[in-house]
Amino acid sequence: MMKLEGLEAVEAGSPEYTGAPVGMLAELTYRCPLQCPYCSNPLEMDRVDTELTTAEWRDVMRQAGELGVLQVHLSGGEPTVRQDFEEILDAAVKADIYTNLITSGVTLTHERLERMVKIGLDHVQLSIHDTDPANAERISAYKGGAEKKREVAHWVKELGLPLTINIVVHRQNIENVPAMIDYAVEAGAGRIEVAHTQYYGWALRNFAALIPTREKFYESIRITDAARERLKGILFFDVVAHDHYAVRPKPCIGGWARRFLNITPSGKILPCHACETIPGLEIDNVRSRPLADTWFNGQAFQRFRGTAWMKEPCRSCERREIDWGGCRCQALTITGDAADADPACVLSPWHKEFAALAERESHKPPPAFIYRHMRAPRSATTQGQYYGAAVTTKP
Ligand code: SF4
Ligand code: SF4
Repeated sequence: MMKLEGLEAVEAGSPEYTGAPVGMLAELTYRCPLQCPYCSNPLEMDRVDTELTTAEWRDVMRQAGELGVLQVHLSGGEPTVRQDFEEILDAAVKADIYTNLITSGVTLTHERLERMVKIGLDHVQLSIHDTDPANAERISAYKGGAEKKREVAHWVKELGLPLTINIVVHRQNIENVPAMIDYAVEAGAGRIEVAHTQYYGWALRNFAALIPTREKFYESIRITDAARERLKGILFFDVVAHDHYAVRPKPCIGGWARRFLNITPSGKILPCHACETIPGLEIDNVRSRPLADTWFNGQAFQRFRGTAWMKEPCRSCERREIDWGGCRCQALTITGDAADADPACVLSPWHKEFAALAERESHKPPPAFIYRHMRAPRSATTQGQYYGAAVTTKP
């Protein structure tokens, strides 16, 4: 492993100390044949002609291996629309990193998947939209996807790879959570990710169309908990709960710049995939700064690492090194200041209105989806204008 510049500058054990990142999200492209209204990609996406080349991605994988990254999540958009996907995968395998393909499955062929297995792919995470094919097609704006996904799940198992089924839960599929859990068991998945929608990017744009009622949310959690008990030893559950109905926030991305980093299609090195909306962050690029130097010393990584940046109530809170104050992007969207406590926390003065907003919107009839598309109007790039504008009561 290379010498990790800057590591010795921070005392081990202090909140500002960090070792190598555990995981790296590699968004190979934002191109995708689907148009999910909850997509976490930014509203203004990197264009195809700015994407890193094969050689540049291979070098990113080499640097990640040297930095000590253990897992790479090959994602997008749909990563397999890149015809050089296998070459990038090969570089990650050669860098001795555990490789996870995150895919909608619709562009895969058996031949390609077989080739990926030969190269050394370790794991596949396949997303589904619903067990009702018509509703799945409506949500993804893609015909024939449901059938193709079943086929891909079968190939993954046939080729001997571990499979995770990913479901993004919202008000327009929440009734079918039990059926989607059964689907994962039937597909032979060893793991299911039940991810209640997180409101960034396109999901935030579609907040009112996606937000379930508090009652439906808790019912789905009860169902998931019961299934987790029933399926012990068969299916492992990862659950991402709903922020608006929470009392404490999640340790978003395991704490800012502690465990994960993200590379965008054009090579931007981000502490969090949604953080580009935060003003004042100096975003580095793999084209101009080494990965290890950015991870340890980059301004964007240092900005919210540890606890020194915190304001009250986080600064004196006993959970400050447990949840690290929650999500910076959500704080910014609701309060206008990324250094505030996540409004998902009951101790945030914004929490009451944050929860009330969800209650109000979830009881109205859902508006039509605004489908994800590559060219959002420029006026649609400020997240807060769709959602923060609805939070009218300033504490
Ligand atoms: S969430 Fe949907 S639209 Fe976004 S990248 Fe994934 S499959 Fe494509
Ligand atoms: S006050 Fe801050 S650190 Fe404490 S629980 Fe709430 S968000 Fe977490």
